[in-house]
Amino acid sequence: MESASNVVIIGSGPAGLTAAIYCARAGLSPVVYTGSKYGGQLMVTSDVENYPGFTDPVQGPDLIDRMKAQAEKVGALLIQDDVTEVNFKTYPFVVRTPQEERKALSVIVASGANPRRLNLESEARLMGKGVSNCAVCDGFFFRGKRLAVVGGGDTALEEATYLSQLASSVTVIHRRDTLRASNALQKEAFSDPKLGFLWDSAVTEVTGEKKVDGVRVRNVKSGEEKWMPFDGLFVAIGYDPNTEIFKGQLDIDAKGYIVARNETETNVKGVFVAGDVRDFRYRQAVTAAADGCKAALDAERFLKETRSASR
Ligand code: NAP
Repeated sequence: MESASNVVIIGSGPAGLTAAIYCARAGLSPVVYTGSKYGGQLMVTSDVENYPGFTDPVQGPDLIDRMKAQAEKVGALLIQDDVTEVNFKTYPFVVRTPQEERKALSVIVASGANPRRLNLESEARLMGKGVSNCAVCDGFFFRGKRLAVVGGGDTALEEATYLSQLASSVTVIHRRDTLRASNALQKEAFSDPKLGFLWDSAVTEVTGEKKVDGVRVRNVKSGEEKWMPFDGLFVAIGYDPNTEIFKGQLDIDAKGYIVARNETETNVKGVFVAGDVRDFRYRQAVTAAADGCKAALDAERFLKETRSASR
């Protein structure tokens, strides 16, 4: 048999890089395809204040660079390339990039998820300067401030109710007049005195020079436009998990996330999953890292069992 890598890891956010560190320290010589744009969501995150071990805020890209350096130091091979195709129907599995094809005895999928954006130029310009995608990450910086949250699903209402504990007021801006969020979350939000709703409204511009000072909104029914003052805008309109290349090979749920059983197992024995590509609930760097650790330990156990079975 042509030689195959013990473990190929797809993705280089905290899940993929933690998996790499654990696999390398277990002597498995993991190969990590980092993606051409490596690092995931931390690469667009400024101050990280909730990752244990840092008394002063660490910048997201700095945290990723440290994880990469640590993974390489303990023996992981990092390849900055995008996986464009996988074949989990043969064994060893096959992973392809535009440059190469690699066989793998096990695979850890840690390809992450991208928060959806409003696709406004002003949103991109003020990202990290008052525009955020993560209340748990950034809410602390907006204590006593006026905030807006865009969206009408579970994420938007979870973010809004979380933020209302810190902010002076939170306005949920939703493009329709009914919410998609669960009844329980709606009940909680409607009974929150600090939380208000702006219905049938679309954000057309985020304003502010160096930081957010407000948003321009348009009523989608009347066409009326107005400006409202806010200190921060949380865009909570959903996530797109990076699962395109796994369709038809791994079980994917109705929301687009890879289905995990027994923590990190997928429907294919020997293929494991970690981080935001399977987790819409926690989505934290530290939970993704923990998931990467679990996937590495599960892959190690799988390889050991496969080896002893073939003896
Ligand atoms: P979602 O259910 O897809 O909701 C996205 C919301 O954003 C919708 O209200 C949508 O409006 C709005 N939206 C989408 N694109 C927009 C745009 N370009 N401009 C303005 N508004 C836009 O996403 P989610 O809330 O992230 O939830 C994703 C999945 O995870 C759901 O199945 C949810 O149940 C689950 N989830 C569960 C929990 C939990 O169990 N605790 C927590 C979070 C998420 P429309 O309503 O008009 O489409």
